[in-house]
Amino acid sequence: MRVYIMTDLEGVAGVLDSENWCGKDSRYFDQAKELLTGEVNAAVEGFLDSGATDILVADGHGWGGINPSLLHPRAELAAHWPAGKAYPFSLDSRKLDVAAWIGQHPKAGTVGGHLCHTGSMEVREAQINGVSVGEFAEMALCAGELGVRVVLATGCEAFTREAAEFVPGIETVAVKRGTQTDPGHHLCGVAYRKHNVAAIHLSPEEARRRIREGAHRALERAREDEFGHVKMPVPPFGATMVLRPSEQRPARVLQKAHDSSVIHLLNAPWEEQESLEVDPLALVLGRAAEKGR
Ligand SMILES: [Zn+2]
Repeated sequence: MRVYIMTDLEGVAGVLDSENWCGKDSRYFDQAKELLTGEVNAAVEGFLDSGATDILVADGHGWGGINPSLLHPRAELAAHWPAGKAYPFSLDSRKLDVAAWIGQHPKAGTVGGHLCHTGSMEVREAQINGVSVGEFAEMALCAGELGVRVVLATGCEAFTREAAEFVPGIETVAVKRGTQTDPGHHLCGVAYRKHNVAAIHLSPEEARRRIREGAHRALERAREDEFGHVKMPVPPFGATMVLRPSEQRPARVLQKAHDSSVIHLLNAPWEEQESLEVDPLALVLGRAAEKGR
């Protein structure tokens, strides 16, 4: 089996906040990268243990989250993608069979999540064909479109719930649990960045032990049963994004569409909607509720 690993920084045990750990000028940025690379290496060991032949690690954190010097010798690293063509982040169905996520965070507005956001802290809600999506769901839909199975997701406990809801049967490992109980919908991006920092973390060593076991289990299970096929929405595809208000401007709604491909949809530029008189979040959530009925 050939394994793809998408990585992010905010869902790693010991990465305590966004401000001090996740930005290029953050004082603990190098330490955060070390912690992520440690979790990735644990997953690589678990996958190799259960017979993986090839492993491609994609560095999905905006500023880079992997320390290449520390990466497991059996893994290859994909980093940086052409502008406007980033998706599906080197996930190639001719070369890869299953996909895993290490260090992923929950989508914006998740109660009980740690360092939740979708793309940036400015985003309050993102949807594809009326279904609320985070960074995990966006990439899982790419995997679904390519026919690659989605088998493992690790991050905070709320993120593992999000992954299991989107892909029933997926193997998950929680390495920390957020303790914030307010979704923070009303906050601007700057305030939201500091909103979801409360959490209880496993030690890096214990997180890695659990990830190693989870990766091993995921591949064993993938051989025996057919879990991990992502259920695709029916085309045409449309995406909607609600941006938080800032001091300079009110909340905004952006949209884009594609006839046949979620990957092309995700790479397409956003178009701003006419200014709205109603609260844009209420509008978008209302539409989703109508579809659900
Ligand atoms: Zn992210």
